[in-house]
Amino acid sequence: MAVLSSKSSTGLLEPANNQAGGHEFLSHRVSKKNDTIVQVGNSPIGSYDVQVAAGPCSIDFEGLADFAVELKKAGANIIRGGAFKPRTSPYSFLGYGEKGLKDLLEAKEATGIPIVSEIMDSSQLPLFADVDMLQVGSRNAQNFTLLSKLGEIDKPVLLKRGMGNTLNELLGSAEYIMKGGNSSVVLCERGIRTFEDATRFTMDIGAVPVLKRESHLPVCVDPSHAAGQQDLVIPLALAAVAAGANMLLIEVHPDPKSAMSDSSQQLTLDQFKSLMRRIRKLEKAMRH
Ligand code: PEP
Ligand code: MN
Repeated sequence: MAVLSSKSSTGLLEPANNQAGGHEFLSHRVSKKNDTIVQVGNSPIGSYDVQVAAGPCSIDFEGLADFAVELKKAGANIIRGGAFKPRTSPYSFLGYGEKGLKDLLEAKEATGIPIVSEIMDSSQLPLFADVDMLQVGSRNAQNFTLLSKLGEIDKPVLLKRGMGNTLNELLGSAEYIMKGGNSSVVLCERGIRTFEDATRFTMDIGAVPVLKRESHLPVCVDPSHAAGQQDLVIPLALAAVAAGANMLLIEVHPDPKSAMSDSSQQLTLDQFKSLMRRIRKLEKAMRH
């Protein structure tokens, strides 16, 4: 049985202070040679086509189901939408909670494709019973109590990288989920804090090939939160596909300017349509 601390192919992911403690890392490529495909409803993540989750940062408008139908027509495979929002200030809009999830479930019903939403605390689990994929946000990436609880359930988890976490720490977080028996984990690069302030976060494109090499888990990239600006989302998304991402998470809003969170980075439907056309073309070109 493999031990990450002694078998990492690069040494890069060798844990400091003997973090692995002699235990096998379930997320590591050495533990499982073949790529894992995480099935989210009818969407296979880690398979050939890049799976695209699209939708608003927060569900803050009426008519999400109709909008979701448009997103699906444009090529989205999964619908995203935030109901519980982790905001820097407690006085900011914190999401519509249960009402938001109800709208998201209607979108699932209307489109027949799966949905993903952020869970902030395990006490919310009953509310997420019909949500296909649970997102752990950057701010909860090392909430080990939450991660352990998600290890006990049978539902895919979209695990974001903490904005101040190394890739080794991200894999450690994945391990908390997998240790409990839930191996349906998708790792998500969403940008990290660096000295650069021209973008909201620095999208670590190198994370994609490193994670693909070191882990068998599928890799998602969220260019929206890394960019923080609408015009940067499309080039960053295409770069992620070119680097080998298995999934993208893209914020799209019917009227970005009126959005109650992350208004500057959400794409319009037309921009999303253009992105989807370019993604599918790029994928095709990469297959040759
Ligand atoms: C989100 O997806 O809306 C979100 C809050 O993302 P992150 O946790 O990456 O900031
Ligand atoms: Mn957001």
